[in-house]
Formats: sequence, structure tokens, C-alpha cells
Amino acid sequence: MLSADPRERGTPVHAASFLRKREIVLESQLLAKKSDLRLILVHEIFHFVWLRLGNPKRREFRALLEQELKAGARGEMGESAGVHKLALRRNVTSDRARLEYVCESFCDSGAWLYAGIKTSSSWTLRTRWQRRRKRWFEEVFAAPRRC
Ligand SMILES: [Zn+2]
Repeated sequence: MLSADPRERGTPVHAASFLRKREIVLESQLLAKKSDLRLILVHEIFHFVWLRLGNPKRREFRALLEQELKAGARGEMGESAGVHKLALRRNVTSDRARLEYVCESFCDSGAWLYAGIKTSSSWTLRTRWQRRRKRWFEEVFAAPRRC
């Protein structure tokens, strides 16, 4: 499967979410790598969570990431967010690039917290920043939410 994003033409991806169609497509090779499958599936599910999260909470999460960027925090909690964060560091500073980074970081953070995986080489954000993100997710999702 290849990315449909024209700026990433030809970039291999393992999964894609089609929010309007309510579909997630996964590469069948992921069945051989259960931990990757779990991380990627939960990441994709969090794209649907992001859609339903609402602007106030999306802005809150963005502000959390802006604090990290301002403090020079390196690393991320998944490959997708890492790639988007690198693009920001390379002066790709369009609003769209920032929003994509925030969304991918949200989804990777959700996968990190809820996929039931203990370690991943793609989790490179320092522990102090990880704790802040975990606290934010725990607070936001402490109470059941309407879909
Ligand atoms: Zn994603």
C-alpha cells in the first residue's frame, strides 16, 4: 500500500483509515507481527477518536505538543508522529503540517497507551514528556464519552 498524500508519494504505509466510510485497511503482512499489528490498529482507531474529540480537546492536546516543541523535546511515541515532527524541524511550518503532526502524535500516543504493548523502538520521547501525555489522556478519557 502506498500513501495517498501527494507530498509522500510512494511512501509505504501499513494501514489507512477512511473516516467517512468508517473503514480501516491493514496490510496483511502485519498478521505476522502481532505487536506491530496492535500498535497500528489502535493508532488507526485513534484517528476516529480524534475526529470525535472536539475542538477544545484537540486544541488542548496541540497546546501540550507546542509546549514540548518550545522546550526542544525530541523524539515521539511512534513512527508516524516522528516523521511528521521531523518535517516540522525541517521548517515545514504550514498549518496543515502542524495539524497533521498533532493528529499523528495523538494517534501514536493513544496506541502507546492502549495497545497493550510494553516496548517499541519507535517510542523515543523522554519519560518526563511521556508522563505529561499519559496524564492528559487519563484525564480526558477518565469518564465515558458519547460517540
Ligand atoms: Zn495516522
